Amino acid sequence: MSEFDLIRRHFTRATPGAVLGVGDDAALLQPAAGMVLAVSTDMLVSGTHFFPDADPFLLGHKTLAVNLSDLAAMGATPRWATLALSLPAADEVWLEKFSAGFFALAQQHGVDLVGGDTTRGPLNLCVTIFGEVPPQQALRRSGAQVGDDIWVSGMLGDAALALLHLQGRITLDEADFAACVSRLHRPQPRVGLGLALRGIANSAIDVSDGLLADLGHILECSNVGAEIAFEALPVSQVLRSCSQQKLALSGGDDYELCFTVSATQREEIDRLAVQLGLPLTRIGKIVAGRGCIVQDASGNPLNIETEGYDHFR
Ligand code: ADP
Ligand code: MG
Repeated sequence: MSEFDLIRRHFTRATPGAVLGVGDDAALLQPAAGMVLAVSTDMLVSGTHFFPDADPFLLGHKTLAVNLSDLAAMGATPRWATLALSLPAADEVWLEKFSAGFFALAQQHGVDLVGGDTTRGPLNLCVTIFGEVPPQQALRRSGAQVGDDIWVSGMLGDAALALLHLQGRITLDEADFAACVSRLHRPQPRVGLGLALRGIANSAIDVSDGLLADLGHILECSNVGAEIAFEALPVSQVLRSCSQQKLALSGGDDYELCFTVSATQREEIDRLAVQLGLPLTRIGKIVAGRGCIVQDASGNPLNIETEGYDHFR
């Protein structure tokens, strides 16, 4: 199969939202009036981000999901994506499943695949995603205000727990592993939440490298500090039962949103949680100063050494 057959067969679908999609030297895209483009790239590398024998359908899902998560964190509506693939071989069965996983999620979010690049090489999956957002309503890392509540969506740490098991560093029983592994392999990008937070949240980030690391980016960009209540962190029964709550601070791959909102809008966020059917948990507040203090149940600072994942450390 030639490179062009491969692209035609597996990566060419209707692109109703684009002026021109796959097949020319470039795609042509028109954002809606009054919107600016939100553009983000995320790469998944075999051996670094996933096991070489990972299920291709789930990889297709996750490759797009991690990119959708970045747009969610900006409050942007996803519209288009490009896909750069480096493949060890033109494995038809693998490609069929990978593209099925990719397009299933793309369709769910109204994203058109409008282009890409396909080469032979070590397995490497790179998506660039394009969304749109009214310029004044984009959720930036730099907008947190002293006095804001800090919120987080969903549950934290389950993906990291599943990874520890797969790496043989802990042993979960079958039911516990089953309960958390989908958080690792099938993250659900919080696109609806990001859109609902336009005009409400002062800042936002998606939690991909661990809460402390990612919240740390908000604090740095906003020149503020934070106090977090360890007991308030939303964790699953499984995480609690294996005493791994620390993963809620340091684990990666959660793909939840962490955001800050004026304390006057608590009820608004509680209503949003009900409306979206997604837990939204208030975990602390923005304070003057620098850095993040994690407090125990009596308000004393916990001495927790946790660092987010850093590829070059
Ligand atoms: P060029 O040589 O001009 O860079 P290519 O041969 O790389 O063009 O690609 C041909 C067309 O197929 C282009 O429109 C490109 O965007 C698209 N394309 C290539 N690989 C992919 C892919 N993996 N997914 C979607 N579109 C792709
Ligand atoms: Mg090319």
